[in-house]
Parts: sequence; structure tokens; C-alpha cells
Amino acid sequence: MRLILLGPPGSGKGTQAQRLVDKHGIVHLSTGDMLRAAAAAGTPVGRKAKAIMDRGELVPDDVMIEIISERLDRPDTAKGFILDGFPRTVAQAEALDELLEERGTTIDAIIEITVDEKVLHDRIEGRAKETGGTRGDDRSTATRLEVYRRQTAPVADYYRREGTLVQVDGMGSVEEVAALIDAHLRALVEA
Ligand code: ADP
Repeated sequence: MRLILLGPPGSGKGTQAQRLVDKHGIVHLSTGDMLRAAAAAGTPVGRKAKAIMDRGELVPDDVMIEIISERLDRPDTAKGFILDGFPRTVAQAEALDELLEERGTTIDAIIEITVDEKVLHDRIEGRAKETGGTRGDDRSTATRLEVYRRQTAPVADYYRREGTLVQVDGMGSVEEVAALIDAHLRALVEA
């Protein structure tokens, strides 16, 4: 199974991705995790990415496309994968279409987890308070949400136009959201 999971910061996307990975034995392709690993390893790309991530901005498309292209060529993706955090811009979505076409493969489902703006704000504020977030964190959170609205929300529209997008209400508990996703994937398999 090959999936794309879309959703704003605070939507619980990472949690749902990990659950699907465990349930279906597919690999988790989280660009956020890949960039954090590169930053921790201190590679040139990682060092540049860290500064961008700390500000809540996006790493350039060409860098991300290169990273995903290489990752898709690793043999473990043959058992299926879930893309989490990619594509994050329409340019990345277009590049992904090409990468998949070159490899003669397709995506089975694109799932967008939707969360009410106000709830998102409260969740992220709550999280910042719990971790004693600094002003800097608050600012990068605001930037992250703004970047999502401006650059990543259009990715959902891109797939909606192709008719391949499914929206799942992310307002419930982790279990409730998981049940909605599972119901959709079951319907897909039975179709
Ligand atoms: P979030 O905390 O918003 O769920 P992630 O863990 O997915 O974010 O990613 C953390 C950061 O890594 C992003 O804010 C961004 O700076 C960078 N990043 C991750 N994926 C991409 C991508 N596809 N394109 C550009 N930047 C990305």
C-alpha cells in the first residue's frame, strides 16, 4: 500500500502515520524525520535545513525532491510506504507525480486530516505551555501554520482536482480518527 498523509501541524498526522506503518508493515517516509536526522548528523544539507526548520519555514523544493527521489529508490519501499510531510508544496506534488511515473508506480490513497483552525491553535498553544515554549517557539509555530495555509493547503486542492483526495475529520480522539482512516482504506481495498 502506498499512501500520502496531509494535514496541518497539530493535526495528529505523525501519530496516524506511525500507526498505519505498524498496522500495514509499510515504511514511514517522514521528511521532517529525515531532515532532523541530517541535522543531527551535521551534514551540509542538515546544517542548512536546521536553521530553516527552526524558523518554521520550508526547505527548498529541489533539496526535498532530491531527498525523496533517493529515498524512493531504496529497496524497502517495495513493501509500500506512507509519505508524511511530503509533498508540502504544489511544485513538490508535481515532481512526485513525475518520480512515480518514472518508476511505473502510483499512490493508492491520499488522506487529508482536517482540523478546525481554532482547535489547532488551542492544541498548539497547549503543547507550547506544557513544554514551557519560548517566544521563539511561538513565532515559529505561527510561521508553520501560516506556511501551511499558504503553501501546503494548495497541495490538497491539487489532489482534489485530480479526484484522488479523501478528507478525514481530525477533530476526534486518536482512536476515532484512526477508525475513519481504516474505514476508508477498507472501502478502497474492497472497491
Ligand atoms: P510538523 O512539526 O509541522 O509536523 P515536520 O516534522 O513534518 O513538521 O517537518 C519539520 C520541518 O521540516 C518543517 O517545518 C520544514 O521546515 C521541514 N520540512 C519537512 N518536510 C518538508 C518538505 N516536504 N518541504 C520543505 N520543508 C520540509
